[in-house]
Parts: sequence; C-alpha cells; structure tokens
Amino acid sequence: MRIARFTKDGDLFFGVVEGDDTIATVAAHPFGEIQLTGERQPLADVRLTAPILPSKVIAIGKNYAEHAREMGGEAPEEPVMFMKPSTSVIGQREAIVYPPLSERVDYEGELAVVIGRLCREVPASRAADVILGYTCANDVTARDLQKRDGQWTRAKGFDTFCPLGPWIETELDPSDLAITTTVNGEARQASRTDKLLHGIPELIEFVTRVMTLLPGDVILTGTPEGVGPLRVDDEVSVTIENIGTLTNRVVSRD
Ligand code: MG
Repeated sequence: MRIARFTKDGDLFFGVVEGDDTIATVAAHPFGEIQLTGERQPLADVRLTAPILPSKVIAIGKNYAEHAREMGGEAPEEPVMFMKPSTSVIGQREAIVYPPLSERVDYEGELAVVIGRLCREVPASRAADVILGYTCANDVTARDLQKRDGQWTRAKGFDTFCPLGPWIETELDPSDLAITTTVNGEARQASRTDKLLHGIPELIEFVTRVMTLLPGDVILTGTPEGVGPLRVDDEVSVTIENIGTLTNRVVSRD
C-alpha cells in the first residue's frame, strides 16, 4: 500500500494511492487499521505534501563504506546518529530553500524508514513490528557549516532540508533496492541498499535504546557515495526501486 498526504481545498488528508492515478481519502490517520472515507479522486487533482510529519527525524551518518571514504574517513563501528528538526520536512515538489548562511549545500539521497507505533528498546528481531513503511529522503546538508561547526545541527537543520516522499510504501523488502540521485536529470548517486553497513533492524534497536519513537517518526539510513553540491534552480530527484521518485527544486530565499 502507498500512503500519501495531500491538500485539497485548503484541508490536509492522508490518502491511499490506488494504481497510478487515483487517491482514496483516509478517514483519520494511517496507523493501525486504515479506514477509508469512500472518497476517491484523480491523483493529478491533489497536491502531495510530506507523507508524514514526524515528531523527530533521526539520521544515520556514514552508513555506506564508499561514502565514509569520500568524506575522508573510515566508517565508524557504531552508527553515528544525529537529528533533523520536524520543521526541516517538506514533501514532493516542495522547494528546498538555499540558506544565505551557506555557500555549499549538498544533496544526500537516502532510504527512510517510517515508524508505525510508539516503541522503545526494540530488539532487532522485532523491528519489523514497529515499521509502517519506507519512503525516499534527501538529507540536504550545508557542507561548509557541517565542517565549520564540528557538530551537525545547524548544517542539517535548516527549514526545507528534509524532503520526504512521494509516499510511504508499506509492502517492501528494503534489503536490496536500487537507490539513485539525479540533479537536472544527470546521475550523481547510484547504489543499492544491500550496502548499508548497519541494517534497518539494527538501526531500530540502536535508536530505541536511546529514545522512544512515536508513530510517524522517521529514520534516515544514510547516503551512498556521490554526494555533491546543489545550486539555485537545480532540480534534484531521489529514486528508490519499488517506492518511487522524490523531486524538489532549489530556490533562493528572495
Ligand atoms: Mg545523510
């Protein structure tokens, strides 16, 4: 099932995407048993927004060996965890705003895990029980500020720096999927999720040893090699096999 969120006539709804061109309205929220209202409309008639508004986005750094290498180091033994604020989240076709504070903003295409229920201290063997589904993410990063600050809150936390979407795919085996990033149609990143150093069950165990996850919280699993800069007017797309393509344009703030 593909769960999206959309606006229509000023109201915000969850929906289930049916086929390629129809969206069925969800009565309340997508957690637990999903109830549909019975209303359906052409997908083309609604505006998609971020498929979920998480209370927090947990992100994992250096979780592909080749990316750790291109950043000038080895991958750490334990996952490196950081957070992006909920206010950084945007959805399909919403604009990434290039912040005046940075002169180097990079894309990072990533597989995102969406949590389906409140959970803490989840053993890896039970991780599947707490997952709602998967979506595409772009962990947009002000690389110059990341290097200057020594920690990553500012570099990763700007408004619009966490595109998610286009929807949450709930029936997916995430263990070996093609992940690609293009800028203006040119390939920049191409890898597979079987190269994740720390797999999703392990990440869920690792994160929930520290903090409770709430329904809708998101874990970004890390980016493969090939990160690089974005410029104003660029169009960046992250495609993950069997999920779809998340596309966003970069705009200047003025
Ligand atoms: Mg990242």
